[in-house]
Amino acid sequence: MSFASRARRQLVAATANPHKLSEIAAILGSAVELLPRPSDLGEVIEDGPTLEANAQLKARAVCAHTGRAAVADDTGLEVAALGGLPGVRSARYAGERAEDADNRARLLVELQGEADRSARFRTVAIVAFPDGSELAAEGAISGVIAEASRGDQGFGYDPVFVPGEGDGRTFAEMSPEEKNAVSHRGRAFQALAAQLGL
Ligand code: IMP
Repeated sequence: MSFASRARRQLVAATANPHKLSEIAAILGSAVELLPRPSDLGEVIEDGPTLEANAQLKARAVCAHTGRAAVADDTGLEVAALGGLPGVRSARYAGERAEDADNRARLLVELQGEADRSARFRTVAIVAFPDGSELAAEGAISGVIAEASRGDQGFGYDPVFVPGEGDGRTFAEMSPEEKNAVSHRGRAFQALAAQLGL
């Protein structure tokens, strides 16, 4: 039976990040019931060389643990003047235990005096099924890194990212609906939903 034809389309979420969860739930809508990440599953070490590899590690671990279809995403901020960094290292850019504010602060310091502030967010989303099959989708949004943090919506690098397809506001100055309509995660999960036949 295809995923789309099941009465209850359930996916176990590999993320416990409440911001990500609410974005994914809003993007996929009521067609999918997102089940919470099991609390007894330990941290998955994201040591893959690419976003694809890390999303796969997380989706496979949750699928193996639960015996159910699991969905994971991995996101990187790729800054042109930094040769694509922080990229796959975005979560740990300012150190292993870095908080979002530390990562943003390091980014602003690295780009001080830099004329080229172009960057893009890229998300890879993967569904792993118990039969070993997988679906993968990608989404990206280009923009620039602001001179300083602005806004208190969203999470992560949102206060320093100004999407090109906008009016100059950072993602953190937009409503969740405005962000999801153009964001890397919005695009990746819309493409994934299409592949799931939703
Ligand atoms: P991960 O996909 O959870 O591994 O996230 C990697 C890094 O990118 C973390 O520092 C997140 O805070 C950040 N990040 C992920 N998604 C977003 C987003 O939608 N906006 C801003 N930062 C994000």
